[in-house]
Amino acid sequence: MSDCLFCKIVAGEIPSAKVFEDEEFLAFEDISPAAPVHVLIIPKIHLDSIHEAGEEHKELIGRIHLAAGRIAAERGLAEGGYRIVNNCGADGGQTVPHLHFHLLGGRAMTWPPG
Ligand code: AMP
Ligand code: ZN
Repeated sequence: MSDCLFCKIVAGEIPSAKVFEDEEFLAFEDISPAAPVHVLIIPKIHLDSIHEAGEEHKELIGRIHLAAGRIAAERGLAEGGYRIVNNCGADGGQTVPHLHFHLLGGRAMTWPPG
């Protein structure tokens, strides 16, 4: 998608603080961190949200979650815990319409979210 912010990050047209990359997905630091650790993990293909994902994406989505766990461990969060968040659509609080997962940690989280 030519006008998608995260597609532009994947293409290198907009800079990002890259954390991890493979052929299928990219992880980078959130520009406005909501916790001491706040990493975004996105598929390189454009999907508006998790709602557009299908059976053909289940391995990709699973691998993204496993990558989130590895990054959490690298950041020292394995013992204290962390949160993986996906916001979907307007009511879900999604502001960037390219599927992404937030890895948040380094402080105690509250529940339920606002
Ligand atoms: P969401 O509100 O779930 O759609 O999350 C979008 C996230 O993208 C927010 O946490 C923003 O801070 C983050 N964000 C927006 N623009 C950028 C950018 N250029 N680089 C890194 N993170 C960004
Ligand atoms: Zn996109």
